Amino acid sequence: MAQPIKKTIAVLGSTGSIGKQALEIVQANPDRLQVEVLTAQNNADLLIEQAIAFEPNAVVVGEEKYAYVKDALQKHDIKVYAGADALCQVVQMETVDMVLAAIVGFAGLRSTLAAIEAGKPVALANKETLVVAGALVTSLAKEKGVNIYPVDSEHSAIFQCLAGEFHNKIEKIYLTASGGPFRGKDKTFLSTVTKADALKHPNWKMGEKITIDSATMMNKGLEIIEAAWLFSLKPEQIDVIIHPQSIIHSLVQFEDGSLKAQMGLPDMKLPIQYALFYPQRMPSSFKRFDFASYPSLTFEKPDMSTFPSISLAYEALRKGGNMPCVLNAANEVAVSAFLNGGIGFNDIPTIVEKCMQQVHYIDKPTLQEYIDTDIDTRKEASSLAKKKIRA
Ligand code: NDP
Ligand code: MG
Repeated sequence: MAQPIKKTIAVLGSTGSIGKQALEIVQANPDRLQVEVLTAQNNADLLIEQAIAFEPNAVVVGEEKYAYVKDALQKHDIKVYAGADALCQVVQMETVDMVLAAIVGFAGLRSTLAAIEAGKPVALANKETLVVAGALVTSLAKEKGVNIYPVDSEHSAIFQCLAGEFHNKIEKIYLTASGGPFRGKDKTFLSTVTKADALKHPNWKMGEKITIDSATMMNKGLEIIEAAWLFSLKPEQIDVIIHPQSIIHSLVQFEDGSLKAQMGLPDMKLPIQYALFYPQRMPSSFKRFDFASYPSLTFEKPDMSTFPSISLAYEALRKGGNMPCVLNAANEVAVSAFLNGGIGFNDIPTIVEKCMQQVHYIDKPTLQEYIDTDIDTRKEASSLAKKKIRA
């Protein structure tokens, strides 16, 4: 019997929550997947450990950790590079079949664009890439004939619901949200919450930034914009529904009124694996759903006034241009200021809103204009955050 073809992958952000789970999938499918590239920013020790275990062709690390990683891997046949330009180069290597984009934030944009430019299919976890520059990313993917496979669980759910629907139009989609740790709370309560409270997500274990985004509901806001680009939807075709059990990962409503949902236990390995192996569903040992453990699945409307981030994301999507880029940069800065103990939880959406009012609007930005918008917004958001700390 012929051997199955091995796919070589570049795992960008291999030391993160998504990256580590992707490597578990590689471990479980050694005859189907091979790691060609691993990358990290600061976590040099884990990157070294992963490199020794997976023997990639190359690793990329943040510049400050270059000498340390180079030294640790000198006896291994693994190339060591550093910095953002190197990230863009390694994804374009001829030996890379697919790129898993799992860097967090704006920092993932250039390497994702570089992968698409080189014609590499992308399994996309880094939602900020589509939020910041969805027009640029999707038009380049179209031009290069590159497929983008969603890793985000909601978007993977929509993608799975669309299998076999060919030209059947989407009437609308429902993105489900757990509601995060503060579901049902009011603004007064939120003004007192700490970093530790906000990092306690009820259903998912994820990186810190996305966990805070889930608590503010900005994660759902970013996902609205991500969905608009992935599935060519207008803002009014995207709805958010709170589903605290996180079993239904999202739904598509078609023009005949029929709804299709994708369900399963909350486990990111499933959407990661689906993206890596699409269109094949690989057998897995992931825990199976047990109906008796979930006698009721419940749904409620999101509380947009306590959690204004969803409305801000709709506004950014409707305005278009560089506005989602402003939303994203302001949010990244505000989340990091909250995590560093500087600002309160309710300050996060306030800073985002102020930046959206203050930063210069550009209708059809170039890549350079997105980069400039990101820099300008970060300055503005940092100065707003500093004022909050002093206040
Ligand atoms: P983590 O914070 O856990 O990991 C981020 C990864 O990116 C790490 O490998 C980190 O390296 C690397 N990184 C951070 N900053 C930079 C930088 N400036 N340049 C290069 N690499 C960098 O994040 P997650 O894995 O949780 O999330 C990754 C992406 O996937 C995010 O966009 C998130 O929204 C999305 N996502 C995540 C989900 C989840 O369950 N975690 C679910 C759905 C989407 P180092 O470790 O060295 O700092
Ligand atoms: Mg998600």
